[in-house]
Amino acid sequence: RQPIVAIDGPAGAGKSTVARLVADRLGLMYLDTGAMYRAVTWHVLTQEIDPADEVAVAEALANCQIRLATEPATAPGEPGLTRVWVNEAEITQAIRTAEVTAQVSTIAAQPTVRKVLLKQQQEYGTQGGVVMEGRDIGTHVFPAAELKVFLTASVEERARRRQRDLLAQNQPPVSIEALEEAIDERDRKDSTRRVAPLQKAEDAIELLTDGLSIEEVVERIVALFED
Ligand code: C5P
Repeated sequence: RQPIVAIDGPAGAGKSTVARLVADRLGLMYLDTGAMYRAVTWHVLTQEIDPADEVAVAEALANCQIRLATEPATAPGEPGLTRVWVNEAEITQAIRTAEVTAQVSTIAAQPTVRKVLLKQQQEYGTQGGVVMEGRDIGTHVFPAAELKVFLTASVEERARRRQRDLLAQNQPPVSIEALEEAIDERDRKDSTRRVAPLQKAEDAIELLTDGLSIEEVVERIVALFED
């Protein structure tokens, strides 16, 4: 049995941390599909291509080998890091910059980009059971997934979490208002694009995580899986 667990939801809902911990608990692989869209975005920006130029972006895709490797957990509750490469360059940190974050939704809205990454994601799922995290896993990548979770939190909560993350990573401080605006803007773009918009699959279980700890969210998902 090679189960697929799909975890989708808006920006900053805690999908990455939760999905990694669920994968550890269930002994499944983990795939961060957002990191793949970020990798393409990094590649496009590095080549000084206009992210809105769909023809040039499609051309750049031909020379964009993405590789992801998730390290094992460092301790219980401490998920391993996902390292990311494009061609020979390691871009694990570089895909998390504000510049990439601001452009990624423009890249992710392009049908050619989605077609290429969708195929890679589906292939990954044939190699074994996997917890796959993104925006369209339950709706498009694996519509027949065993378990689909739609993880959400209020925009206030998501902005507060992001502010804590920035602080923990020694990044320059950003106001809650600016963070809320950036999150809203990305969700708006992701949910209004024509191809595979951010949307809860009809048969997904929605988990609103305001006030829940990471451990509580992980427990709920593991329980849903084992049900
Ligand atoms: O999850 P993360 O914030 O890293 O995702 C970055 C962006 O990648 C999203 O805002 C969205 O534009 C795009 N994405 C997507 N489909 C996915 C995963 C991510 O369109 N399955």
